[in-house]
Amino acid sequence: MYDFVIVGAGLFGAVFAREMTDAGYKCLLIDQRDHIGGNVYTEKVEGIDVHKYGAHIFHTNDKRIWEYVNKFAEFNHYINKPKVRYKDRIYSFPINLMTLYQIYGVTTPKEAEEKLNEIRLPIDEPANLEEWILSQVGPELYELFIKGYTFKQWQKHPKDLPSFIIKRLPIRLNFEENYFEDSYQGIPKNGYTAMVENMLEGIEVRLNENYFDNKSYYDNLGKQLVYTGKIDEFFNYEFGELEYRSLRFESKVLDGNYQGNAVFNYTDIEVPYTRVLEHKHFNFGNQKKTVVTWEYPDSYTKGKVPYYPINDAKNSNIYKLYEAKTKDLPNIIFGGRLAEYKYYDMHQIVGSALSKAKSIKLKLAE
Ligand code: UDP
Repeated sequence: MYDFVIVGAGLFGAVFAREMTDAGYKCLLIDQRDHIGGNVYTEKVEGIDVHKYGAHIFHTNDKRIWEYVNKFAEFNHYINKPKVRYKDRIYSFPINLMTLYQIYGVTTPKEAEEKLNEIRLPIDEPANLEEWILSQVGPELYELFIKGYTFKQWQKHPKDLPSFIIKRLPIRLNFEENYFEDSYQGIPKNGYTAMVENMLEGIEVRLNENYFDNKSYYDNLGKQLVYTGKIDEFFNYEFGELEYRSLRFESKVLDGNYQGNAVFNYTDIEVPYTRVLEHKHFNFGNQKKTVVTWEYPDSYTKGKVPYYPINDAKNSNIYKLYEAKTKDLPNIIFGGRLAEYKYYDMHQIVGSALSKAKSIKLKLAE
């Protein structure tokens, strides 16, 4: 008998399993995929760690979380500095003094501020993503950097999207090009898969196992279930399906150095992909070969990978109904991006798995 049967060997499941195992509890992890790590999974191709489910850059302000992941992997000093490609031009991004110099020729923070004051639209209470960005940077920058990309990514007009999606992007009056503002940032030197493998050392994992195919078997195998899959699926879609955005990747192995940077954002609506990744640059690689991935936004249907929860009013209301049902099942732990239907980053997942494990340990010790 296991103390915990954990459905999903992604980051939440792995951290939770590590913590409970170290506290003396017996854990079993199962995953329907043929690999561990969930969407942080990386695969070695030509000696390069390929981010199979899109770019994953670990960043956090929380020293405790940073020290925790560093126990399982040595991190490099990668800082995310994506470039934007719009038609035949390349721009510095997120919008900063270099971008404003490239577009308007302004050379100092004061000149840039004056320019922004001139081009911003006076919208007192921005009601959506489009209005918010227009109130910050005006129509030209909106067109160059945001409109096409956001429309492609979400398949919705920015007028119909909440502004929180974009508020994570800074607008800076200095030359800093770091995408993130956190104190700690990097990528495991040997890939995320090795990091998760280290977390799972000595813990039993069964791959290619779909929980729903053998639900009662797994429910009876452990004292407590930890579920990290889709919440609507767990409740058999009783209140309807939650919506997601999906992604589709096309990769090629090429010679040399394709684009000179790990990430290029393609913001032009005419280009069907949103990002081009060149994986070796995530780890300062100088291999002779290179692996390049074109990232296309994709609609989600059952069977595809659910990447982004769509936290609009309609889906949030459906989620609340499922969440209320979880309260009737106090013996089951629900955690992670899919079970909590939240646009979590990796550090938030680690943080939430650590606090969940801590509270369960306290409860069990009572
Ligand atoms: N975004 C944009 N242009 C860009 C990059 C991002 O308009 O070049 C917008 C887009 O709406 C996106 C949001 O900002 O969904 C958040 O971007 P981020 O890069 O944080 O998204 P993620 O890495 O999670 O895909």
